[in-house]
Parts: sequence; structure tokens; C-alpha cells
Amino acid sequence: MKQLDKSQIREAVNEAYNKFKDQKGGANANYIPFLANVPSDLFGIAVCLPDGEVIETGDTNYVFGIESVSKVLTAVLVLKQAGAKELLEKIGADATGLPFNSIMAILLEKDHPSTPLVNAGAIAACSMVKPVGNSDAKWAAIEQNMADLCGSKLTLLEELYKSETATNFNNKSIAWLLKNYGRIYDDPDMSLDLYTRQCSMGVTAKQLAVCGATLANDGLNPVTKSQVFDATLTSKIVSLIATVGFYQTTGDWLYTSGIPAKTGVGGGIMGVMPGRFGIAAFAPPLDEVGNSVKAQSAIKYITNKLGVNIFGHC
Ligand code: GLU
Repeated sequence: MKQLDKSQIREAVNEAYNKFKDQKGGANANYIPFLANVPSDLFGIAVCLPDGEVIETGDTNYVFGIESVSKVLTAVLVLKQAGAKELLEKIGADATGLPFNSIMAILLEKDHPSTPLVNAGAIAACSMVKPVGNSDAKWAAIEQNMADLCGSKLTLLEELYKSETATNFNNKSIAWLLKNYGRIYDDPDMSLDLYTRQCSMGVTAKQLAVCGATLANDGLNPVTKSQVFDATLTSKIVSLIATVGFYQTTGDWLYTSGIPAKTGVGGGIMGVMPGRFGIAAFAPPLDEVGNSVKAQSAIKYITNKLGVNIFGHC
């Protein structure tokens, strides 16, 4: 495996920032009113290494909505609580090939929400979080798990939570359709509320890089040095991310970047290079699929420049 030193990583991060900071294209998510109003020119990149050092540039301490990146964190919690076998049976681990909020995906595979990394599976994952039936205790577990993975607490963006709760009609349909097919394992409204709340957590690019590094480091958080999950779950979570992290453009992403990564409509992307580093980039304007334009460019540039690729040589 190619050895990397910190100065090469620092150089690649700075180059990516300068190359893409003025990149045009894309637009903030507008179906959640709060997200439409986040300043569009914010841009930050952070890489967290196995020794806990974070190499960063730009707006890496700006707190933005974690959105769908949160699906990864709660999938880790469900893997910890229920195990890999139960997650596979109750949710699944397949790409849908369809948009993140697809209702058709549920209809096509009615015995299977497919993966915890699309809305249907993520709402089902929230329903599986223990203890079933107790919203406060479930939320406490979700929040704690996020803090453990990111190395510090995340705070709820109340305005985002309100904005998303007032407009999440599609997700309501998903929750109740899952109920119809016996694929939600707690109260549908409560599960949806937990999902909406976890998506509305505020996170920084730096915290997401630490989370990515914890996944890359077999569950050992490189900053806090605490073992967040059992190392045997690493391949499960990374394979879920690789399969569907970019929704219907996941194949193109893997082919061009070589790194499993998860996006969110808040503009964040978190990448995991097992054994090497976690990386995050943040910039609000999204492409038509819902993935940050600049964050994609930056991460792709860095992996290609460093010559690291999960599938082999670049
Ligand atoms: N909370 C958003 C939704 O459910 C997340 C979408 C995303 O980040 O892909 O619509």
C-alpha cells in the first residue's frame, strides 16, 4: 500500500480548496425551507488521520444540517444493538437505484426497505433503536452514539427541525407504507420524528471527518481514543456506504473517486478510507440528485491526487 505523509495530505487539501472554492453550479436544497437560506458560498474540507490529527481548511467549524449522513451513524447504532444479521433481515443491504426518498423503491421490494441509508430504511432503523416504545430513551441513544462517533456532541438545529417537520409529507407516507408492509418496528410517527430530528442535528465538517476516521479506524475514535463499536462491524457499515452513499449515482461516484462516502442535502459529504483516514467536505449547493457539487469535486480531487482507492491502484 502506498505510504502517505501528512505534508502530501495537507498539500492535496489546500489545492482542492483553492481549485474548487469558486466552482459554480448546483443549488441549495429548497424543499426544506431552512436549507434554502444557508449561505451558498460556504466551503470547508477536513481530513482526520488515525492519530487524531485533523488537517483542515475553509469553513470546517460552520455548523450545518447533517441530514442523510446521519443515516450512517444510526445504522452503526442498530448494528451495535441488533447485530449485522438482524439488520440484514429487517432492513436489508441493497442499493435501490432510486432517489433517496423513493416510494417506488418500497413498492418494488415490499418485504424489504433495502438499506438503512435511504429514507425508508433509515426510518425503519430509527424504529429498531432500543428501547422500543420509549421515544426519549431512543433519542438519548441516538444522540450519544452521534457524539461517540464524532468525538464531541452535536446540537439540534431547532429551526431546521421545525422546517423539516412542517414539510416532510413524503417521509410521512414512507413511514406509514412501511407499517402497511410490516417493515417498521415501532410507532411510525415516533420513528419518523426521530429520523427528522437526527437529520436536523448540526454538525461541522471537522466532526464529520472524525466520524469518518472512527469508521476507517475499526470503531476506535482517533480523537477520544474510545472504542465506539466492535471492529467486526466495520466491513458492514463501509459496504452499506459504498453501495448506496450517493443514491442513484453511487456507481459513478465510486468509479471516479475510489472512496465510499455518504452525502446529505445539508451539503456535507463524509468519506471513509479504511485504515487510512476519514474525510469530510461541506458546501451547500447540490447537483440534481442531492449531492454537494463542490464537496464531491474536492474529495475526488484529493483521493486521486493522493493515489488512494479502496478498489486497488488508481
Ligand atoms: N432529511 C432529508 C429528507 O429526508 C434528508 C435527505 C438527504 O439528505 O438526502 O428528505
